[in-house]
Amino acid sequence: MDQFDPAAVAASVAEKAGHFIGGEWVVEGAAHIGVARPSDGVVYASAPLGDAQRVDHAVDNAKRAFRTSGWPRMAPRERARILRRFADLIAADTATLAPLEALGSTRPVRDVCAWDVPFTAEGIRFYAEFADKLGGEVVATDYDHLGMTIAEPYGVVGAIAPWNFPLVMASWKIGPAFAAGNAVVLKPSEMTPFSVLRLAELAIEAGIPPGIFNVVQGDGATTGDALVRHPDIAKVTFTGSTRAGSAIMAACAQSGTKPVTLELGGKSPQIVFADAPKLDEVARRIAGAIAVNAGQVCVAGSRLLVERAVADELVSRIEQAIAELRAGATWASGTTLPPIISETQAARIEGIVERSVAEGATLYCGGRRADAPVPGAFYLPTILTGVTAQTEAVRAEIFGPVLTVQTFDTEEEALALASHPEYGLAAGVHTADIGRALRLVRALEAGTVWVNRYGRSNDFMIPTGGYKRSGMGKDLGRQGYEAHLRFKSVLIDTRT
Ligand code: NAD
Repeated sequence: MDQFDPAAVAASVAEKAGHFIGGEWVVEGAAHIGVARPSDGVVYASAPLGDAQRVDHAVDNAKRAFRTSGWPRMAPRERARILRRFADLIAADTATLAPLEALGSTRPVRDVCAWDVPFTAEGIRFYAEFADKLGGEVVATDYDHLGMTIAEPYGVVGAIAPWNFPLVMASWKIGPAFAAGNAVVLKPSEMTPFSVLRLAELAIEAGIPPGIFNVVQGDGATTGDALVRHPDIAKVTFTGSTRAGSAIMAACAQSGTKPVTLELGGKSPQIVFADAPKLDEVARRIAGAIAVNAGQVCVAGSRLLVERAVADELVSRIEQAIAELRAGATWASGTTLPPIISETQAARIEGIVERSVAEGATLYCGGRRADAPVPGAFYLPTILTGVTAQTEAVRAEIFGPVLTVQTFDTEEEALALASHPEYGLAAGVHTADIGRALRLVRALEAGTVWVNRYGRSNDFMIPTGGYKRSGMGKDLGRQGYEAHLRFKSVLIDTRT
């Protein structure tokens, strides 16, 4: 599918704009949040604003289901079978899920069909395969003792997701939580509340007991905060900004020292050495890493650090690559530059670029709104040269298609420039010299380092997560699964 009629999809959303609790739709009569589609700014539906009572209702249902549905006590292979069926249903539901996701988010429908939906399904399938793989271990003890650890689910996991890849981000939370036997209360972003409701429906169809997967709608200050602080939430998993992550960590500490996984913001460097093979391909890679989803990606490669000898040529080729992008609605075919999530966010991007130029940066290209056939907020991919480590565009996570360029002459200089005072989410190294690549892999303070590529593959075993203020703990991989388990230590005295 590469296009759809937004009016028809918007009508289908309005019918089901509620919470999903205990396997049932809950539609609020009270406060609501208007939900706009980024492509044209039209408010197409409203989502309820779940208050503390509604959160309590959802957590109570999850707790009851955890205790009575048999989900955590089920044979792990049976839980895996149900989760594989869930994954199959997601993949088979692309025709419904993809327009739902594209309508309310910044993801062009063609990309949602090709990547977001399959990646969501595969993420669930990957964790289904974990369900019977890690049960704990027998440990070395005195001969008369038997010592072991038993892996157990936490109970009810509170999951909070961002707006930039609503389905995929939700799957990274619910996949490992369910495989480990937990129940979940998920709060999607108030800007993209609807597509995960379809996941919750499919979960029931797959055989996940009602109450194991609950979706509660609302904002961060009211609903998210109430969820994190709820006494029956045993573990919190969050993806979003570093600012909100700090508030959530504090709330977890204040409300019962809850364990928390935080996947936060980034300002990731792309380091290109003069010997990097195929400069044209490198240029396409750099352009893709800042332009995909209009830069609204946590691991956006937003700081280009390039060896002086190839800087002019590389930047010129990047400009050519981004010039090919076409702004358009997420429901139109041919859209390669999607909208910015909101007018507020577009104005923020604009402000950072303008202030950076006022501070002395040079606008190489872009620096203004893009012309588009729909009235959403579109921003041209922008390159800023002549920046320093102090320039606002180099310091701030912009979450837009803005690439800053700094040059270096030595490996040491590249490494020093790569270090960001706050963030350490990801980094890219482009070089033909394997020794240098490995030195940088070791030295870079980043949770992920890509060498001669940039971005994730389908290798779900590779975990993702940040160093420094980019986060704590991992999603994906074995670590993402273990984060949803707690380990009970058992020591048996065999002499009595
Ligand atoms: P955000 O922090 O504004 O919101 C994320 C979610 O948290 C939303 O559901 C929001 O309602 C909720 N929230 C906000 N404040 C809260 C609070 N005090 N208590 C509880 N919940 C609260 O982030 P966003 O704008 O939705 O997403 C963009 C950010 O997410 C960027 O910083 C990006 O880098 C980050 N992100 C990180 C990753 C990663 O894997 N590291 C992935 C995607 C996005």
